[in-house]
Amino acid sequence: MGYRAGDNLALCDRCGAEFHRSEMRKEWTGLLVCIKRCWEPKHPQLNVRGKKDKQSVRDARPEPDSAFGTTTMSTTATDGSTTISIASVAEIYNGRSVGVTLNDGIVQWSFAVSDPSGSTVSLNEGVRGQVDAGNVVRVASNAGDTFLNLTDAQRRANL
Ligand SMILES: [Zn+2]
Repeated sequence: MGYRAGDNLALCDRCGAEFHRSEMRKEWTGLLVCIKRCWEPKHPQLNVRGKKDKQSVRDARPEPDSAFGTTTMSTTATDGSTTISIASVAEIYNGRSVGVTLNDGIVQWSFAVSDPSGSTVSLNEGVRGQVDAGNVVRVASNAGDTFLNLTDAQRRANL
């Protein structure tokens, strides 16, 4: 490379060859490269930005998982029974909401009509189906918490 006044020599950051500065260009990567072989424009796709996706659920009605504790049936209750026998009555008092898991998987909410007698809890309505020993029973953590039962029509519609 010959001497040119005001045009110094430099090495290309990519290929390492020697060029006059006038034959080189700064790339978007910050490298000083030769125009002849190495310089590349920034690909427009590199400027594409992802659009934030709004993932919130509109009018969400989450099940209040934290609002109840669970215990289990200690004996089987037959269809229509207004009393259940459960493993722990620790959180159950008169008026407390109780969700009994029926054998078909549906949770039927009702409430205790008195303080438990031993391990037996009396409910304000009979269970709507057989409840086997071991089925989960949910107990509202707070007095006054109530839970809605789905109607048969809602169940059929998978609501
Ligand atoms: Zn080069």
